[in-house]
Amino acid sequence: MIQLYIPLNFLGVIYREIKQSLTDLDKMFGLLEREREVADVPGAAELAVSGAAVRFESVSFSYDKARPILHDVSFEIPAGKKVAVVGPSGSGKSTLARLLYRFYDIDAGRITIDGQELRKVTQSSLRRSIGIVPQDTVLFNDTVAYNIAYGRPGASQAEVEAAARAAHIHNFISSMPNGYATMVGERGLKLSGGEKQRVAIARTLLKNPPLLIFDEATSALDSSNERAIQAELEAAAQDKTVLVIAHRLSTVVDAHEILVLEAGRIVERGHHEALLAQQGTYARMWRLQQSGGEQVLAAPPAEQSG
Ligand code: ATP
Repeated sequence: MIQLYIPLNFLGVIYREIKQSLTDLDKMFGLLEREREVADVPGAAELAVSGAAVRFESVSFSYDKARPILHDVSFEIPAGKKVAVVGPSGSGKSTLARLLYRFYDIDAGRITIDGQELRKVTQSSLRRSIGIVPQDTVLFNDTVAYNIAYGRPGASQAEVEAAARAAHIHNFISSMPNGYATMVGERGLKLSGGEKQRVAIARTLLKNPPLLIFDEATSALDSSNERAIQAELEAAAQDKTVLVIAHRLSTVVDAHEILVLEAGRIVERGHHEALLAQQGTYARMWRLQQSGGEQVLAAPPAEQSG
């Protein structure tokens, strides 16, 4: 009886651990209200990444069939390049990121990485290849070390510390009485937005995936913090394929392509200079940001609240 009890109890612990991680990931994507609905197809292949080139081909998507969100969206991120998405709040920017991570299956079209359709590869191999620095990092109710190592299970303490150093969070962690063993998250130490984002960057640096998704924070970090985080993100993105949901001009000017999304459609696209010359939506957002408006790459002032 005891022999049977121990393994079952052990399995229970593992089950709770896994369930907690999934809950945390769901929260990270604001998906708590929905059951995850994607599944591996029988005999799904492992994603084989060479350069991590991304293609969206005529992608349409709705969370709820009655309300289409993305309409016929096509774009490409060549291997090692950066594509930035800008547009008003609710235009579907984060949805693009969720679809690339395959939190949902699309209604029409195709999404591929290095020519392999997302629907046909295992979710685990897909997610191993993608690093996400979300707008608002949700930390797991565990130690700082666990939260960073989550990027690469089995990483050594030295590797965790090296990633934390690169993300400029090591000194802060070391200054706490319990150091890397400090509990964080909802039931632990509350970190500031910037500190949480650094933990997410450390996690991503440790994971070192070929494809990165950055969802830039809209909340105003103070500008020196912002510059430091920006520099860390740039270092993490070196030679990687990057999809960035951008709120700042400094992020988009060097993008291979900028997509302007409005109500789920790409209404303008091109390099920064070319878009300025078009004198359209992007040029208007740019002028507003130049004149000191905040977050205008994400939302025109008329749509901002608070
Ligand atoms: P923001 O700049 O404010 O983050 P966004 O451009 O990233 O906005 P999305 O989060 O992609 O916008 O949302 C696009 C639309 O899809 C919105 O109208 C939103 O209400 C809707 N939406 C987002 N998530 C869900 C969901 N889980 N279920 C139903 N509708 C959703």
